[in-house]
Amino acid sequence: MDKHRTFVKFVCSSAVDLETLISNNFIMKIIAIGRNYIDHAKELNNPVPENPIIFLKPDTAVLKDNKDFYYPEFSKNIQFETEIVLRICKEGRHVTPKFAASYYDAIGLGIDFTARDVQQELKAKSLPWELAKAFDHSAVISNLIPKEEIADIYAIDFSLQQNGQAVQQGNTKDMIFSFEDLIVYTSRFITLRKGDLIYTGTPAGVGSVAIGDVLEGFIGAQKMFSCKIK
Ligand code: MG
Repeated sequence: MDKHRTFVKFVCSSAVDLETLISNNFIMKIIAIGRNYIDHAKELNNPVPENPIIFLKPDTAVLKDNKDFYYPEFSKNIQFETEIVLRICKEGRHVTPKFAASYYDAIGLGIDFTARDVQQELKAKSLPWELAKAFDHSAVISNLIPKEEIADIYAIDFSLQQNGQAVQQGNTKDMIFSFEDLIVYTSRFITLRKGDLIYTGTPAGVGSVAIGDVLEGFIGAQKMFSCKIK
């Protein structure tokens, strides 16, 4: 086994039930981070950023409970981006580095579905990315694991399989901006609230999906979600 592989002590019964969170309005907004792994910035020919690149998805983007993803008509190139997701557990503005770790209490695994063709058009015109990133069901999310159950929060091994083939492999030790950096920086501009989710960026290996594909996400050896493309 890879020496960097993280051992996750995962207890199914204690995973936070996302349905309960949503029904109690505990998901407020989704904050997503672009280009947080050097290898991914390079594969899209983007410069490595000096500060985190931030965009938002609305709550209508959430796709949970292993539900199917329906390929939208406005794109011919939907791509997966597999990302570790943080759940914010209290309100924070101008959070300082010393206390940043206390602002999240659970992690999950998600996909930041991206309409890459739409994004390229928007980027070429220097327009915002929202239509390429924030569309319905563009934010796959697994159930969440309390962070105390993760052996090393700074070296979480995660991966994605497409039709049984490994396509993305990442480890949070390779992030340009740590979980704490992201909380500190984001909270300078946007108040964090309990239930907000932060998608922390994708490693290299993003790729296109086709109707009929099955995407399966893993933290360590633990399967976190399955998503069929329809
Ligand atoms: Mg992303």
